[in-house]
Amino acid sequence: MLKYDKLHYKTNNKENRGNMYSSNILKQIFSHSTEEYPFECCGVVMESTASDEQTVFRCKNIQNEIHKADPEKNPRDAHTAYSISPVDLLKIHRMMHKQHYRLKAIYHSHPDNKAYFSKEDYSFAALNDEPTYPGTDYIIVSIAKKRVEETVCFSWDSKYKKFSGRTISITY
Ligand SMILES: [Zn+2]
Repeated sequence: MLKYDKLHYKTNNKENRGNMYSSNILKQIFSHSTEEYPFECCGVVMESTASDEQTVFRCKNIQNEIHKADPEKNPRDAHTAYSISPVDLLKIHRMMHKQHYRLKAIYHSHPDNKAYFSKEDYSFAALNDEPTYPGTDYIIVSIAKKRVEETVCFSWDSKYKKFSGRTISITY
């Protein structure tokens, strides 16, 4: 069995109508953000092309290793940046091509910072004013003192050729 199978949850369609992400999915993202605090966490939401079922797949943030290897070239560590490990990128690609999942969202946290789309976030998400991964959202979690403050989901607006954000939250 593959590792991410244990993170497999079915989304509640009724709940999903207003919010593209179920509370179950958001809760998993929030606990990941809390566990990694004071570092940025990163991961993806995969969606089955057959059933629309969503799965959270946690990724390893290797930014501290990148920073340590060459601090001059990479001044930011995992407090303020993230890099998805190549092993996890490979797993994501396998899920997409072998198990028929689509990359629904890429999430990461901003410890002690607002849930804004930074310049770095933008350069990762777009290339020549076109989205790097069309149809993929970017979920950013603002977390302070291990508490989730705000979560914003940024989606590509093809009309205005930019990402626009809307606040999302767990519904009880
Ligand atoms: Zn960011």
